[in-house]
Amino acid sequence: MPAHRNDTTTPARPLGSDQLRAGAERAHGLDGALAAALERVARIAATSLRVPSAAVVLLGQDRRCFSGGGDAHLWLSRDPGALFRLGLAGRVLDSAEPLALEDARTLGQETPDSPQSLGIAGFLGTRVSGSSGEPLALVVAIDTEPRRWKADEIEHFVEIAASAVTEIELQRRTVEAERIERQLRHDALHDGLTGLPNRACFVEQLRHAGERARRDVANSFAVLFVDLDHFKMVNDSFGHLAGDELLVEVARRLAGCLRSVDTLARLGGDEFALLLEEVCEPSDAARVAERLQVALSNPMTIRESEVFTSASIGIALSTKLEDAPQHLLRSADLAMYRAKEHGRARFELFDPAMHTAAMERLRIEMDLRRAVERDQLVLHYQPVVSLTTGGVVAVEALIRWKHPERGLIPPLDFIPIAERTGLIGEIGRWVLARACEQLKAWEREFGYDAPQSVWINVSPKQFAQQDLAEQVGRLFESLSFEPRRIKFEITESIMLENIDVAMRTLGELRRLGVQVFMDDFGTGYSSLTYLGRLPLDGIKVDRSFVSQMGTDVRQAQLVSTIISLIRNLGLEPIAEGVETDQQARLLREMGCAFAQGFVFCRPVPAKEIDVLLRRAAQH
Ligand code: C2E
Ligand code: MG
Ligand code: MG
Repeated sequence: MPAHRNDTTTPARPLGSDQLRAGAERAHGLDGALAAALERVARIAATSLRVPSAAVVLLGQDRRCFSGGGDAHLWLSRDPGALFRLGLAGRVLDSAEPLALEDARTLGQETPDSPQSLGIAGFLGTRVSGSSGEPLALVVAIDTEPRRWKADEIEHFVEIAASAVTEIELQRRTVEAERIERQLRHDALHDGLTGLPNRACFVEQLRHAGERARRDVANSFAVLFVDLDHFKMVNDSFGHLAGDELLVEVARRLAGCLRSVDTLARLGGDEFALLLEEVCEPSDAARVAERLQVALSNPMTIRESEVFTSASIGIALSTKLEDAPQHLLRSADLAMYRAKEHGRARFELFDPAMHTAAMERLRIEMDLRRAVERDQLVLHYQPVVSLTTGGVVAVEALIRWKHPERGLIPPLDFIPIAERTGLIGEIGRWVLARACEQLKAWEREFGYDAPQSVWINVSPKQFAQQDLAEQVGRLFESLSFEPRRIKFEITESIMLENIDVAMRTLGELRRLGVQVFMDDFGTGYSSLTYLGRLPLDGIKVDRSFVSQMGTDVRQAQLVSTIISLIRNLGLEPIAEGVETDQQARLLREMGCAFAQGFVFCRPVPAKEIDVLLRRAAQH
């Protein structure tokens, strides 16, 4: 059905022209039935009143006239408008009662459009209305001779006229029902915002394309999965309406890059898919992907602002496919995902290794969902020591996942997955509660010798939650926990999430009495401007700086500069990743009071911290 296929490429044209045609034919049949019925009404009126002609004139958009009678006035069916020009129709419409004129010729002068020239003398007219009161039609009876209408004749005429209503209403309702049905059918397969085919429609097209390709390799095709980069940022900064406008413009530009045989669909959100017909070579698909990217690269004006957008594109070819064509969309999706990983604004071609990697990711994702409830997460703690006294002042909680088959999984291998899947919220709450409980336990056992605080890592996604401070406040209340004993560590990448929410949360946490440190300083997007503006309490100097201090004088100089910078901002510097005594000594000399690192202690289970604390208490 090639015609069917082409129909879906233009947003404005609804799909399923076959169905449309069927609808139109049915409407035509209906029209025929209506015409026959109304002509019959006119004929009955003419016969029973013994006039040469009678007619039913539809009102509204459909101004057709159906006349009947042995000697029908021809002009009536050709030009029912004459009745309106004569003023006769208007008078009928205006009057509550039927209009009965003995001789219409007495109404005015003879003109080309007067009763005289049209052969109207006796005239009887009434209007008929629908069930909701709206006028549907005029019914008129016309005599060539003057006629004195009798009351029973008028009454009979009104009854005959009324029988037209049922016919007209029935037809109108059926036409309306057909229209709604067509609309629903269209809506089910199209995206409301852009008018493009939707996912269901696209998958159907894909199935057809798969069948054609199976019959003949010349029908090979490609699927492109297009996902906008940083679309969320547009939505967040300009609002959803602006986001919608952007999507419509993107749809328009993408559509502009296609041939008429290709199909563009919106899968949802900022995801689009393309089906390119008769594509056998990866390079052909790649050229289209490039064209799409060029088309998107010009700035768009949205709400009077210039917005730049780009897309990550994944390509899958039907020729490279062993399994069902429907899976092509998934393969293109995986390739798109790879394009995102490799830095966005680019395209990638699907290869089966992506499949294996994705399966692996999926398995970990599924396992992680259950990890919290199955109690597989544990916290290890790494002491923060005072460089002057050597004592443990605090501990940093570092999460690990005790996987039943894979062993102890480090946080960097699963925290990003938790972030992507939204599991981070639940995990974060667990970390916080668990760390608070642990600190209380140490307090019970070691009193003043217990660590003063526990430091908790909060990922950017977690920090962007609107209600983080509220959650924390509630937890502290339920545990009657002192807020100053928790310190949060955030990273510079929170600037990439919603900066306004982050700033607000920081302020709220501060008011609660929770201190916040910047972690891994120097590895991210640190802008000194922001650093001064963020309400922070301390900054952890990343271990990449600390680790090179002993070997390189310039590095030591750099660390020294960073430490004084932090102090000048009125913040506390903390050194991370101290591995040698020499580094510890240098840092102390530079004025850094606190540090963490393997030279003091690795991250260990709570029980091992117990041992440390017990030993310290004995001294
Ligand atoms: P981080 O917060 O910067 O934690 C310090 C990392 O450096 C830890 O790795 C720690 O084991 C390691 N480390 C500490 N001292 C030394 C040293 O002297 N030498 C070397 N080479 N490494 C040292 P870990 O435990 O694998 O954690 C990695 C990252 O995972 C953390 O970096 C933190 O960003 C994140 N993370 C850990 N726990 C959580 C958590 O509960 N929630 C969130 N959102 N992120 C967490
Ligand atoms: Mg940390
Ligand atoms: Mg760190």
